[in-house]
Amino acid sequence: MNADRRHPAGFWLETCGDDLTPRPALSGDETADVAVVGAGFTGLWTAYYLAKADPSLRIVVLEKHVAGWGASGRNGGWCSADLVCPPPALASRYGDEAAVAMQRAMFDTVPEIGRVCEAEGIDAHFVQGGSLKVATTPLAADRLREDLESVRPYGWSERDRWWLDADAVRERIAVEGCVGATYTPHCAAVHPARLARGLVRTIEGLGVRIHEGTTASAIRPGRAKTDGGTVRANVVVRALEGQTASIEGHARLLLALHIHMGVTEPLPQAFWDEVGWRHGETLADMRQVFVYAQRTRDDRIAFGLARGHPHPGWLTPTYIVPTAARALRTRLAELFPSAAEARLDSLWSGYIGMSRDWFPSVGLRDGIAWAGGYFGDGVSTANLAGRTLADLITGRETELSRLPWVGHRWRPWVPQPFAMVGTAALFTAMRWADAIESRTDRPSRVGVAADRLLPD
Ligand SMILES: Cc1cc2nc3c(=O)[nH]c(=O)nc-3n(C[C@H](O)[C@H](O)[C@H](O)COP(=O)(O)OP(=O)(O)OC[C@H]3O[C@@H](n4cnc5c(N)ncnc54)[C@H](O)[C@@H]3O)c2cc1C
Repeated sequence: MNADRRHPAGFWLETCGDDLTPRPALSGDETADVAVVGAGFTGLWTAYYLAKADPSLRIVVLEKHVAGWGASGRNGGWCSADLVCPPPALASRYGDEAAVAMQRAMFDTVPEIGRVCEAEGIDAHFVQGGSLKVATTPLAADRLREDLESVRPYGWSERDRWWLDADAVRERIAVEGCVGATYTPHCAAVHPARLARGLVRTIEGLGVRIHEGTTASAIRPGRAKTDGGTVRANVVVRALEGQTASIEGHARLLLALHIHMGVTEPLPQAFWDEVGWRHGETLADMRQVFVYAQRTRDDRIAFGLARGHPHPGWLTPTYIVPTAARALRTRLAELFPSAAEARLDSLWSGYIGMSRDWFPSVGLRDGIAWAGGYFGDGVSTANLAGRTLADLITGRETELSRLPWVGHRWRPWVPQPFAMVGTAALFTAMRWADAIESRTDRPSRVGVAADRLLPD
């Protein structure tokens, strides 16, 4: 299936258990109550909760490639309670109470995904083993402790996230040079493409119509125009994340950030005896360019680097940057020297959606609904978005429809190429800061400058 070597589908899509033959494309005009554009987690969860809430609704999903082909089938499989905007930023804009409500909703979202997998028979390898964020230098440990304290007022009590000393970390995962870590139980590891493909089968069973190989070009109140015809619907849901700019008039809402992931060959039992990692934890380190990883069901390490290249978002950036494999290998060897020689069995890339203020948003206005701007935290946030959109579309006032991100308006990015150049400078500065700080163990001035470059 991985026929295009320059644009590989990657390990998750290759092992999702489907052959990914596209369902029939839209051919001619259709009518529906709700048309969902984009079949990633946002579109699929929205269709799922809508179909559950009101089985009489006529729902159509329109997808350019196949369901799960975007970020949803290519990510790190961290189903976490983290949001892209830190709780203090949310609180300073919407108040403490709203930030706590949002955090609690995110806590609830992690087991909700496990519940649906169980109820619908989706074998997405869901394990809620929590998450470790490790520090391998004293500077990183200081930052991690500050981070821990900064979220305490916003719902993260001592039962939600706590400090582990180096010995306690080693009992869970033996990371080389670890000086301490924080642990939270609010995270699960999933096989993302199995989740996406399981969801698409589930919604089909609930009567949702799905057209794959169908590209939308315009979304207006009451209709979605595609290359195969127009769908007229009371509500059109825009669920395109990093490719939102492919829709007429939406070029400046979200930028695409192109990032890579890889997976090792299955590692031998001797490695796991040494490293542990027995309880399904996800793992990240605390560097400017951090690593995120999980142990797969078949004993590989699937991991990525938060090192990206901005894209305008009307293209589909799934090509491989030549230096990506080396960057991944180097960091893996630093964290786990005994995996330094492990083969990378698969390397792929995908794109995430960045809003200018780094806030996610969900909403419904004038017949157009949307959700996105999750950055690298969309696996669980998209589920919360799907439940929230179902409430908004069916007109129910609920705790979810009152959350602070509902109706949040993004400031448009500055026009291209300025938006891309500015964000590229930011990510370059972060890479430099990472290199300097890992050598000196002191905060670098470039890092401070990178903070100043953060979009406002
Ligand atoms: C490498 C990588 C690692 C990540 N790791 C994590 C992680 O560990 N945890 C986490 O929480 N998040 C992670 N993310 C982010 C997360 O995957 C996304 O935020 C989330 O999947 C977004 O879901 P979505 O449905 O909004 O968008 P997508 O999954 O991108 O879905 C959009 C869909 O729209 C389709 N489409 C595009 N244009 C059109 C069009 N014009 N007409 C019709 N269809 C169209 C696309 O083909 C795609 O299927 C990662 C992302 C990447 C790329």
